Amino acid sequence: MLHLNLNALERTGTLQLRAACPAADFVLAGRGPELSGPVSVTLTARSMAAGQVMVQGRMSTTLAQVCRRCLEPVAQPFALPIRFVFVPDDEWDCQDDGEVHTFPAHLAELDIAGPLREEFALAAPMYVECRPDCRGLCPACGSNRNTVRCDCSPPDVDARWEKLRALTNH
Ligand SMILES: [Zn+2]
Ligand SMILES: [Zn+2]
Repeated sequence: MLHLNLNALERTGTLQLRAACPAADFVLAGRGPELSGPVSVTLTARSMAAGQVMVQGRMSTTLAQVCRRCLEPVAQPFALPIRFVFVPDDEWDCQDDGEVHTFPAHLAELDIAGPLREEFALAAPMYVECRPDCRGLCPACGSNRNTVRCDCSPPDVDARWEKLRALTNH
């Protein structure tokens, strides 16, 4: 989906890449957040000295998560700045390192999708809260305490605090 034509880039010096990638390409089985829409990718590729390629821009999408406290669905916009340097492997004898990625020298097309997926997996938040003061679920009856006022007795820990308070008041 996200391929950079290196021959064209060498001719023009700069190339724009725009794509709406299917959410399924970024959802890692069982890990990381679900997405409620495609991932918009806007990148500028620049041809650098010694066959290196600089890719900069941003990716954005909407995360579809549930609040970690009350389990209500939360849709959250998410955007990430992107900066990669791709280096031909005959110029660089190290492993991929952070923003630096190697590719086989004399390659015709560079696949940007893999590095983008990695960036997304590292940066996307694992947890979300629907609001800073979410009151969560009642541990006794499971009601959403943001919307329901239940009559459950307070948990045991409160009773212990009461005894402690009684002792210290003497
Ligand atoms: Zn919540
Ligand atoms: Zn309750």
